[in-house]
Amino acid sequence: MSTIIEINHLKKSFGDNEVLKDIQTTVNKGEVLTIIGSSGSGKSTLLRCINLLEKPTSGEILYNGENVLQKGYNLSTYRTKLGMVFQSFNLFNNLNVLENCTTGQITVLKRHPEEAKKIALENLDKVGLKEFQSAKPSQLSGGQKQRVAIARALSMNPDVMLFDEPTSALDPETVGEVLKTMKDLAQTGLTMVIVTHEMDFARDVSDRVIFMDKGVIAEEGAPEDIFVHPKEERTKAFLSRIL
Ligand code: ADP
Ligand code: MG
Repeated sequence: MSTIIEINHLKKSFGDNEVLKDIQTTVNKGEVLTIIGSSGSGKSTLLRCINLLEKPTSGEILYNGENVLQKGYNLSTYRTKLGMVFQSFNLFNNLNVLENCTTGQITVLKRHPEEAKKIALENLDKVGLKEFQSAKPSQLSGGQKQRVAIARALSMNPDVMLFDEPTSALDPETVGEVLKTMKDLAQTGLTMVIVTHEMDFARDVSDRVIFMDKGVIAEEGAPEDIFVHPKEERTKAFLSRIL
């Protein structure tokens, strides 16, 4: 399996608070990697360091073998290669569904508006929302908004999609449709890194699971290793609290 992102000795502090302590892992092409762990363990900070919404304090992030933190690296290109889906959707509420999915393509990737529209509609179709293309976000349910956010991110043709608790802000009845959409995407071979509290989903779709505790990767392995045969006491304690 080829490595897309390699993280070496990644550290992040906010003031005196060291939130990520020497993180070492990889993201491999075509895999679904889920990150689980208690609130405050550093999961969001890790995702935000990967896409450089936060600047790591030290360490390396290699993308296709090149350190993106080195001076002179083309960060704007790197950022377009990573799609991000947030807990809170972050849609543009003044734009309709289609425009939400075309604007980044036109302004950042400089795609022709007609091409951007074609790509956006393909992705809206994938998430089952093509017929909502003219709706405004305020007319949609939370689950529908999150599927638009997924279509918008996909429309930039990212190499890796990062999801930060994509279902945590949803009404229970719309969680399933978003998880289904993500599972469908996983089956297309898309590379996905997913922070989630949905343990059944993680167990079902992941190729690999990372359990984070207090800023370190406490345990990492196949879903079966983590959920059925965890080795570390802290993994066992976490799972017994939430399962
Ligand atoms: P998780 O996503 O696992 O709940 P986070 O990565 O959000 O954890 O947070 C890890 C720790 O980092 C927490 O103690 C949090 O308060 C702290 N933290 C996160 N972002 C910031 C920030 N921008 N400024 C200061 N502290 C932060
Ligand atoms: Mg978080």
